[in-house]
Amino acid sequence: MQITKEDLKTYFSDSIFTVISETADRLGLECYVVGGYVRDIFLQRSSKDIDVVVVGNGIKMAEALGKKLGKKAHVSIFKNFGTAQVKYGNIEIEFVGARKESYQRDSRKPIVEDGTLEDDQNRRDFTINALAVCLNKEQFGELIDPFSGIEDLEKRIIRTPLDPDITFSDDPLRMMRGIRFATQLNFHIEEETFESIKHNKERIEIISKERIAEELNKILASPRPSIGFVLLDECGLLELIFPELITLQGIESRNGRAHKDNFYHTLEVLDNLSQHTDNLWLRWAALLHDIAKPICKRWEPKVGWTFHNHNFVGEKMVPNIFRNMKLPMNEKMKYVQKMVGLHMRPIALAEEIVTDSAIRRLLFDAGDDIDELMTLCEADITSKNQVRKQKFLDNFQLVRKKLKDLEEKDRIRNFQPPISGEEIMETFGLGPCRQVGTIKSLIKDAILDGVIPNEYEAAYNYMMEKAKKLGLKSIK
Ligand code: ATP
Repeated sequence: MQITKEDLKTYFSDSIFTVISETADRLGLECYVVGGYVRDIFLQRSSKDIDVVVVGNGIKMAEALGKKLGKKAHVSIFKNFGTAQVKYGNIEIEFVGARKESYQRDSRKPIVEDGTLEDDQNRRDFTINALAVCLNKEQFGELIDPFSGIEDLEKRIIRTPLDPDITFSDDPLRMMRGIRFATQLNFHIEEETFESIKHNKERIEIISKERIAEELNKILASPRPSIGFVLLDECGLLELIFPELITLQGIESRNGRAHKDNFYHTLEVLDNLSQHTDNLWLRWAALLHDIAKPICKRWEPKVGWTFHNHNFVGEKMVPNIFRNMKLPMNEKMKYVQKMVGLHMRPIALAEEIVTDSAIRRLLFDAGDDIDELMTLCEADITSKNQVRKQKFLDNFQLVRKKLKDLEEKDRIRNFQPPISGEEIMETFGLGPCRQVGTIKSLIKDAILDGVIPNEYEAAYNYMMEKAKKLGLKSIK
């Protein structure tokens, strides 16, 4: 990762940086690229947003740059924030005047004054995010790293530039950001910084739920999300922002029989799953799949610990959790609910002899989400007993194969009953009543159980036969 001063310059060879440089010199303003963009060069990650700090007026700089770039550039000014954005092709550059910030206890919105580059670097959250590269001609490509951010990048450390108690108390969102960076980058949070999160955890109460959810989503989208949840637990933040997960913790044992710790099991499932999918909402489903286990836990002397119906109870808990955390209440939440509700089904199948009827019912209930459900269920097998684990995985292979065969044959995945309620009403001269529903379910069950094929004619004949038994006569 050794990037020399000369190397660094090459990362700023795009003509846009030359134009910024010339504009800044012409206006007599100091100008620096700061934060994530510089950090990501050293991490060799691509980063699209470029943040530029101008010692002086950032808006003036953006306007001058816009003029120089001509028609192809689009400048947006946010007067209230003192910032401006320049879009040029697929490049987005944010300009802001260097700031000095001072905070009041009850808000993460600081009082802002004009400041120097040093002031601006002091207000950054972590040393690795406080790196600046000069764009003025004299010092073009020169790194300004007052807090040894590069050393921390090399040592893979998250550390605040100033006393962490000040950094975190000023803006407690930074505690979540720190844990999020540690998770995304697989970095270690330096001791004093982590201790300070422990002391300042209660300050999280001034942060909006939406901001917290945003960070949780970034943790969940990381390669190994468990890193973040373990850290959140260790520092005490998890209890404050996500108490439901804490209830999963702990092992109880009776008569020498213990159940597993459902918190660590959940994290293992989440990590397993994350190796197979980037689907954020499926990751949420993994996080919540056993959320109702503590509520449903019973000791049954003959069988030991049971968690009957935890999937259904969990499904019912999802909307409240999403509402409390200000997560979307739309089809994404419904998808998570569905996955939590169905997560036991493939496992139950894999334990028994796999009948066609059970497979058709699973296909009917899961619809187009069947493959993702199978991915979740495979991730859910965390048995330490390798033989047992393999047995389950082999059975899942069998379930997957049968799912495929039956889907090809019967097209159950997007099942639409071949006979509609309206047709039933018309055929027998009925209004909307219970009998219509009964006949509809009988036809659906017959198809799912393989009694008749998923075809109109077979369904029609079956309907006539059943209707006769119910004492109904066709009026057609
Ligand atoms: P990512 O793009 O992965 O979310 P980032 O740090 O690159 O992370 P931003 O969140 O847009 O992107 O932040 C840009 C820079 O602004 C950071 O690198 C950091 O220097 C600074 N910054 C952002 N939020 C804060 C904060 N709450 N406190 C202090 N500095 C912050």
